[in-house]
Amino acid sequence: MKPCCVVVLSCLLGPLSGLGAQERPTQVDRPMSEAYRTSADSLIRAATQDSAAYRRLGELVDRFGHRFSGSASLEGAIDWILGEMKSDGLEQVRGEPVMVPHWVRGAESAWLLRPRRAPLALLGLGGSVATPPAGITAPVLVVASFDELQARSEEARNKIVLFDVPFTTYRETVRYRVEGASAAARAGAVACLVRSIASFSIRSPHTGTMRYDSTAGRIPVAALSTEDAAMLHRFQDRGERVVVKLTMEARTLTDARSRNVVAEVPGRERPEEVVVLGGHIDSWDVGQGAMDDGSGSVAAWEAVRLIHALQLKPRRTIRVVLWTNEENGGRGAQAYRDAHAAELADHALAIESDNGTFSPRGFRFSGSDAALSQLSQIQPLLQRIEAGQVIREAESPEADIAPLVERGVPGLGLDVDRSRYFWFHHSQGDMLDKVDPAELGRCVAALAVMAYVVADMPGALPRSATR
Ligand SMILES: [Zn+2]
Repeated sequence: MKPCCVVVLSCLLGPLSGLGAQERPTQVDRPMSEAYRTSADSLIRAATQDSAAYRRLGELVDRFGHRFSGSASLEGAIDWILGEMKSDGLEQVRGEPVMVPHWVRGAESAWLLRPRRAPLALLGLGGSVATPPAGITAPVLVVASFDELQARSEEARNKIVLFDVPFTTYRETVRYRVEGASAAARAGAVACLVRSIASFSIRSPHTGTMRYDSTAGRIPVAALSTEDAAMLHRFQDRGERVVVKLTMEARTLTDARSRNVVAEVPGRERPEEVVVLGGHIDSWDVGQGAMDDGSGSVAAWEAVRLIHALQLKPRRTIRVVLWTNEENGGRGAQAYRDAHAAELADHALAIESDNGTFSPRGFRFSGSDAALSQLSQIQPLLQRIEAGQVIREAESPEADIAPLVERGVPGLGLDVDRSRYFWFHHSQGDMLDKVDPAELGRCVAALAVMAYVVADMPGALPRSATR
């Protein structure tokens, strides 16, 4: 544990109006962990005593289903959330307009034709072009890396290239999903398949975004289940000729209207200074997006609702932001940055939860050393739920706060036990049953305590000198 820091008295006076006089500082200097103990304990108790967040998440995902950019279900979910936030008593509740990409999957299938006939489990990748209506039938070349494709590029011409790359880390393996199609196209392939980016599978393909490089032709691309990818690889290793027929109707329509969801608990003393707390409200078009990122969105919303319900009136404004279009564009994050450009100097902190709401361990941080040291002093307040650790990260810890972190806003990502996250991520399996109510409650508690203390503490978190 790091030693508690000491903050100046004048800044600690009066942050706890809803909690009675016993918590008000009586001495000149008090460690942050003492000054905020009662309010932090109240938030933790409220967040963990029942399953309010889980019930709300259940209503959201069961009622609306997935929330893909351009879909009616996303906009219906946003309308419902805005209404609920108003009845929660939050202020400045609004949807801020964002134009988002509108990709539609359409029907899709893959059939193994040789060495035997069988359907393959696939999901097209977001942004892919379609095949011709009759599909693409071609022999398959399986490779295990970009280097192997390079070495065998002569063999790739007029084939379907399959990248069968086992999951190591998301960052390492996701390159094949994002860049695979263009690499295959450069080698003369007619379509591309990618082993799903998943650390466990029950033959469920996992979708996700991809990017066409402007220097290569655009070929259709889809993810196969890890089991199917491995089977095609085994056929090739045995010297058997593998032929697949891929059919995809995917198309990109004109941009659609969406919104970032925004609501606030206004600051009592410096309302212009803002702590942003959120998740992304959009999801892929499979499953319910319960984990990614329905639960992160509801956790952030619930944290702010509890701060309001407990009548904790923070010095600064706490703003919940549920960004739209994280999955296939990041347009919500860009639109928030642009709409609030004039206020970014007054953004004290931006927090996002987007790794599922599994058992929380603490936070990942990007910003100055001085800010990190202050955040570490909040650690003891979260010790009872074992969620106090704050670790440094070189880049923005989450995607939607990246445009803010780039402008110098200190950034935090909720750090959770991710050991099961990539079992379900971007798959049909991402439904409510994968979220544990008790773990979700602890995530709400960690977010609420962190947001409240930073919004109320005396001085703003120090920014990096270079920013
Ligand atoms: Zn996400």
